[in-house]
Amino acid sequence: MPSTPSKEKVITATKVLEKISAYDPYFARPADSVLLAWASALTLANIPEDIALDAVDHMYVNVDSENFRPLPGLLIQHCREIRRERFEAERKAKELDEPQVEKITMEEWEERHGQTFPRGKLGKVIPFQDPEVEGVNPRRVACPHCKVGPGAPCVIAGTNTPIRNLPAHWGRVAAAKKAGVMR
Ligand SMILES: [Zn+2]
Repeated sequence: MPSTPSKEKVITATKVLEKISAYDPYFARPADSVLLAWASALTLANIPEDIALDAVDHMYVNVDSENFRPLPGLLIQHCREIRRERFEAERKAKELDEPQVEKITMEEWEERHGQTFPRGKLGKVIPFQDPEVEGVNPRRVACPHCKVGPGAPCVIAGTNTPIRNLPAHWGRVAAAKKAGVMR
Protein backbone atom coordinates (compact mmCIF):
# COMPACT_ATOMS: atom_id res chain seq x y z
CA MET A 1 0.00 0.00 0.00
CA PRO A 2 1.53 3.35 -1.01
CA SER A 3 2.04 6.02 1.62
CA THR A 4 -0.91 8.28 2.32
CA PRO A 5 -0.92 11.25 -0.04
CA SER A 6 -1.82 14.76 1.06
CA LYS A 7 -5.20 16.14 0.02
CA GLU A 8 -3.39 18.69 -2.09
CA LYS A 9 -1.55 15.98 -4.02
CA VAL A 10 -4.82 14.11 -4.61
CA ILE A 11 -6.12 17.25 -6.32
CA THR A 12 -2.91 17.55 -8.31
CA ALA A 13 -3.08 13.90 -9.33
CA THR A 14 -6.69 14.37 -10.45
CA LYS A 15 -5.67 17.29 -12.67
CA VAL A 16 -2.68 15.38 -14.01
CA LEU A 17 -4.83 12.38 -14.96
CA GLU A 18 -7.42 14.65 -16.57
CA LYS A 19 -4.68 16.25 -18.61
CA ILE A 20 -3.32 12.86 -19.62
CA SER A 21 -6.76 11.79 -20.83
CA ALA A 22 -6.93 14.95 -22.94
CA TYR A 23 -3.75 13.84 -24.69
CA ASP A 24 -4.74 10.21 -24.82
CA PRO A 25 -8.39 9.45 -25.61
CA TYR A 26 -7.81 5.79 -24.82
CA PHE A 27 -6.68 6.53 -21.31
CA ALA A 28 -9.44 5.13 -19.13
CA ARG A 29 -10.80 7.05 -16.20
CA PRO A 30 -8.66 5.71 -13.39
CA ALA A 31 -10.01 3.85 -10.39
CA ASP A 32 -9.66 5.62 -7.04
CA SER A 33 -6.81 3.31 -6.06
CA VAL A 34 -4.92 4.35 -9.19
CA LEU A 35 -5.56 8.02 -8.45
CA LEU A 36 -4.28 7.55 -4.90
CA ALA A 37 -1.19 5.77 -6.17
CA TRP A 38 -0.38 8.73 -8.46
CA ALA A 39 -1.00 11.14 -5.59
CA SER A 40 1.34 9.10 -3.38
CA ALA A 41 4.07 9.17 -6.00
CA LEU A 42 3.73 12.96 -6.35
CA THR A 43 3.85 13.29 -2.56
CA LEU A 44 6.94 11.10 -2.26
CA ALA A 45 8.76 12.97 -5.00
CA ASN A 46 7.54 16.31 -3.61
CA ILE A 47 6.33 17.64 -6.96
CA PRO A 48 4.42 20.94 -7.02
CA GLU A 49 1.30 21.16 -9.14
CA ASP A 50 2.58 23.54 -11.81
CA ILE A 51 5.53 21.28 -12.54
CA ALA A 52 3.40 18.13 -12.52
CA LEU A 53 1.03 19.65 -15.09
CA ASP A 54 3.84 20.97 -17.28
CA ALA A 55 5.43 17.53 -17.10
CA VAL A 56 2.38 16.02 -18.80
CA ASP A 57 3.04 18.23 -21.85
CA HIS A 58 6.73 17.49 -21.59
CA MET A 59 6.01 13.77 -21.52
CA TYR A 60 3.60 13.74 -24.46
CA VAL A 61 5.67 15.89 -26.80
CA ASN A 62 8.37 13.26 -26.40
CA VAL A 63 6.14 10.25 -27.02
CA ASP A 64 7.05 8.35 -30.15
CA SER A 65 5.16 5.10 -29.68
CA GLU A 66 1.51 4.18 -29.91
CA ASN A 67 2.05 1.74 -27.09
CA PHE A 68 3.07 4.48 -24.71
CA ARG A 69 1.67 4.06 -21.22
CA PRO A 70 1.81 7.00 -18.82
CA LEU A 71 3.16 5.89 -15.46
CA PRO A 72 3.90 7.93 -12.33
CA GLY A 73 7.63 7.17 -12.38
CA LEU A 74 7.94 8.43 -15.94
CA LEU A 75 6.00 11.60 -15.19
CA ILE A 76 8.26 12.24 -12.21
CA GLN A 77 11.33 11.87 -14.44
CA HIS A 78 9.89 14.58 -16.66
CA CYS A 79 9.18 16.73 -13.58
CA ARG A 80 12.83 16.46 -12.59
CA GLU A 81 13.95 17.35 -16.07
CA ILE A 82 11.74 20.45 -16.03
CA ARG A 83 13.21 21.46 -12.67
CA ARG A 84 16.74 21.06 -14.04
CA GLU A 85 15.88 23.09 -17.13
CA ARG A 86 14.33 25.88 -15.05
CA PHE A 87 17.25 25.92 -12.65
CA GLU A 88 19.65 26.14 -15.59
CA ALA A 89 17.61 28.94 -17.22
CA GLU A 90 17.57 30.89 -13.95
CA ARG A 91 21.30 30.44 -13.51
CA LYS A 92 21.92 31.73 -17.05
CA ALA A 93 19.61 34.70 -16.56
CA LYS A 94 21.43 35.55 -13.34
CA GLU A 95 24.78 35.34 -15.10
CA LEU A 96 23.60 37.78 -17.74
CA ASP A 97 22.50 40.22 -15.04
CA GLU A 98 25.89 40.25 -13.41
CA PRO A 99 28.35 42.75 -14.79
CA GLN A 100 30.96 41.10 -16.94
CA VAL A 101 34.58 41.84 -16.24
CA GLU A 102 36.26 42.94 -19.43
CA LYS A 103 39.89 41.93 -19.60
CA ILE A 104 42.15 44.48 -21.20
CA THR A 105 45.90 45.03 -21.33
CA MET A 106 47.63 47.60 -19.16
CA GLU A 107 48.33 49.68 -22.26
CA GLU A 108 44.67 49.62 -23.19
CA TRP A 109 43.71 50.61 -19.66
CA GLU A 110 46.12 53.54 -19.75
CA GLU A 111 44.87 54.53 -23.19
CA ARG A 112 41.26 54.55 -22.07
CA HIS A 113 41.90 56.33 -18.82
CA GLY A 114 44.57 58.72 -19.98
CA GLN A 115 46.65 58.03 -16.91
CA THR A 116 49.36 55.65 -15.74
CA PHE A 117 48.13 52.35 -14.41
CA PRO A 118 48.47 52.27 -10.62
CA ARG A 119 51.31 49.74 -10.19
CA GLY A 120 50.07 48.63 -6.79
CA LYS A 121 46.99 47.18 -8.49
CA LEU A 122 48.97 44.93 -10.84
CA GLY A 123 47.39 41.52 -11.17
CA LYS A 124 44.15 42.70 -9.62
CA VAL A 125 40.83 43.28 -11.27
CA ILE A 126 39.99 46.93 -11.06
CA PRO A 127 36.66 48.05 -12.41
CA PHE A 128 36.69 50.29 -15.42
CA GLN A 129 34.99 53.52 -14.61
CA ASP A 130 33.52 56.05 -16.92
CA PRO A 131 34.94 59.46 -16.34
CA GLU A 132 32.60 61.86 -14.65
CA VAL A 133 31.56 64.15 -17.43
CA GLU A 134 28.43 65.44 -15.77
CA GLY A 135 28.37 69.16 -15.98
CA VAL A 136 31.67 69.70 -17.74
CA ASN A 137 32.61 69.65 -21.39
CA PRO A 138 36.04 68.02 -21.64
CA ARG A 139 36.40 69.12 -25.28
CA ARG A 140 36.68 72.75 -24.25
CA VAL A 141 40.19 72.07 -22.99
CA ALA A 142 43.23 70.39 -24.55
CA CYS A 143 43.83 66.76 -23.57
CA PRO A 144 46.96 66.33 -21.45
CA HIS A 145 47.11 62.65 -22.43
CA CYS A 146 46.69 62.47 -26.20
CA LYS A 147 47.60 66.14 -26.68
CA VAL A 148 44.68 67.09 -28.93
CA GLY A 149 43.69 70.73 -28.75
CA PRO A 150 40.40 72.18 -27.57
CA GLY A 151 37.44 71.14 -29.72
CA ALA A 152 39.03 67.99 -31.14
CA PRO A 153 37.96 64.55 -29.97
CA CYS A 154 40.45 62.47 -28.01
CA VAL A 155 42.54 60.08 -30.10
CA ILE A 156 44.59 57.01 -29.35
CA ALA A 157 47.86 58.65 -28.39
CA GLY A 158 50.26 58.98 -31.33
CA THR A 159 47.53 58.28 -33.92
CA ASN A 160 44.61 60.08 -35.50
CA THR A 161 42.15 57.39 -34.43
CA PRO A 162 39.46 58.74 -32.13
CA ILE A 163 38.96 56.76 -28.93
CA ARG A 164 35.79 54.71 -28.87
CA ASN A 165 34.89 53.85 -25.33
CA LEU A 166 34.95 57.19 -23.63
CA PRO A 167 33.79 60.71 -24.39
CA ALA A 168 37.32 61.86 -23.46
CA HIS A 169 40.40 60.72 -21.55
CA TRP A 170 40.12 60.96 -17.80
CA GLY A 171 42.95 63.44 -17.56
CA ARG A 172 41.09 65.75 -19.94
CA VAL A 173 37.88 65.48 -17.93
CA ALA A 174 39.85 66.28 -14.79
CA ALA A 175 41.43 69.25 -16.55
CA ALA A 176 38.01 70.47 -17.70
CA LYS A 177 36.69 70.18 -14.14
CA LYS A 178 39.69 72.08 -12.82
CA ALA A 179 39.17 74.79 -15.43
CA GLY A 180 35.48 74.86 -14.59
CA VAL A 181 34.29 74.72 -18.20
CA MET A 182 30.65 73.85 -18.25
CA ARG A 183 28.68 72.25 -21.03
ZN1 LIG B 1 42.72 62.65 -24.94
